[in-house]
Amino acid sequence: MGKLLDGKKMANEIQSEVAHRVEELRNNNKRVPHLGIILIGEEGASHTYVNGKIKACKAVGFEYTLLQFAATITESKLLKHIERLNQDDDIDGFIVQLPLPEHISVEQIITLIDSKKDVDGFTNHNFGSIISDQPLLLPATPFGVMELLKRYQVTTKGKHCVIVGASRIVGAPMSLMMVEQGQATVTICHKFTQDLAEHTRKADILIVAVGKPGLITADMVKSDAVIIDVGITRVPDTTKKIGFRLLGDVDFENIAPKSSFITPVPGGVGPLTIASLLLNTLKAYEQQHT
Ligand code: NAP
Repeated sequence: MGKLLDGKKMANEIQSEVAHRVEELRNNNKRVPHLGIILIGEEGASHTYVNGKIKACKAVGFEYTLLQFAATITESKLLKHIERLNQDDDIDGFIVQLPLPEHISVEQIITLIDSKKDVDGFTNHNFGSIISDQPLLLPATPFGVMELLKRYQVTTKGKHCVIVGASRIVGAPMSLMMVEQGQATVTICHKFTQDLAEHTRKADILIVAVGKPGLITADMVKSDAVIIDVGITRVPDTTKKIGFRLLGDVDFENIAPKSSFITPVPGGVGPLTIASLLLNTLKAYEQQHT
């Protein structure tokens, strides 16, 4: 059985470090970091993620402001709110919870966010900084994966890392971070990749971020590989009080015994994404106010 990469435990460690820094600020009569959160619509998963982020802010002593809008909000109105947050000196960083309603262009929204306040690390400026000597606000989920590997002392240097999923917020920045910071050799796969298994079987480190439960089966993974499952999909489950359970993209039960390290879903990458958001908010605060 592979060693479990316990994201919850590591996220708690990071939260304690951030809380300690906030306490120092308070003791020095400084104001504390303040996170803005834009939440649009009624989608259950988005509300759950935002609640998790608010809970984390409270736990570390950050201030937060939640701006909630109906799914019918127009793109131009939303852009105005973003401009206001960009200008608000009291807000150190903010996020726009994805996904957005179809009539709103994610690209337009991301383009307008001031990169200094982009604590999700989505803007082109922050994305590009992955390959600079001084990275700025790193994309939160890949940042969380790198932290998890680092804190469990998983070697990435010289390893072959295969990433399945090439999205702007997870797969693509993950590949750059694995090259730049991880010093790994990287293969990136997407939905047009032919014979996915041929690639995944070569992975020393396999990172999967697609959103298709069961995509990666045991025969697609070599023995002793490190498995990072970023995928989160809600599947109906009448035995659960909440009516669903969360599944990752990998067949955990059959892959765990042959892996060296593996993340669970839930409790793996998810908590680290929130921890990265806290680290980025603290960094945004420090870059703007010290
Ligand atoms: P996304 O924007 O839908 O991207 C999915 C990626 O998977 C795309 O690059 C797509 O390829 C690729 N893909 C689709 N089918 C494939 C297949 N059969 N084989 C190989 N690649 C395939 O999703 P995302 O935002 O990156 O999120 C991915 C998953 O991670 C979702 O389940 C999401 O809920 C989860 N997630 C988790 C966290 C966390 O904190 N744990 C954070 C963010 C996202 P193309 O590029 O060719 O379309």
